Amino acid sequence: MRAEFDLDAVIRKIPDFPKPGILFYDITGILRSPQAFRHCVDRIVDRYRPAGLGGVAAIEARGFVFAAPAAYALGVPLILVRKKGKLPGQTLRARFALEYGEDEIEVHRADVVAGAEILVVDDLIATGGTLKAACSLIEQGGARVAGIFGVVGLPFLDYQRVLEGYPLTTLIDYHGE
Ligand code: AMP
Repeated sequence: MRAEFDLDAVIRKIPDFPKPGILFYDITGILRSPQAFRHCVDRIVDRYRPAGLGGVAAIEARGFVFAAPAAYALGVPLILVRKKGKLPGQTLRARFALEYGEDEIEVHRADVVAGAEILVVDDLIATGGTLKAACSLIEQGGARVAGIFGVVGLPFLDYQRVLEGYPLTTLIDYHGE
């Protein structure tokens, strides 16, 4: 068992960013602390090394930061889940709701291997809408979601309901402002 790390001390909270009423959890403080960053990546690797993953799917953009070193350490493929229009090859697509309107994410079809067990990683889980769409991409490709990992969780936004059925790990949860 690894020692606990005080992530709260390195996550800056910025009120009214990027718009009024939002409390923004800034994970750049984690990246600035090599100990904090190592702690986060090690926790992914410790939790999922025994799982025999077939890949780690990373959500643009801050999910890339945590997923890439974890995939490297686990020795498994890194799969980029990107905002629409960024990937040049044949893609799978999923829509998800934003506060106002909708957005789309994509993954290269060839990156999702049927039957593979995939871990899906983002920096923060708020409503869970983005991760749910990412999981649907994995499943469209015939792979299985082995788990979902977020460094930060905001359970008061009810992501557990949206992501019900998927094994979920977060390293620190905030329970409202
Ligand atoms: P959601 O789809 O609502 O779970 O939103 C998750 C995505 O939005 C993540 O990729 C986060 O980086 C970002 N995000 C949402 N809310 C916040 C917040 N309060 N602070 C920082 N990032 C956020």
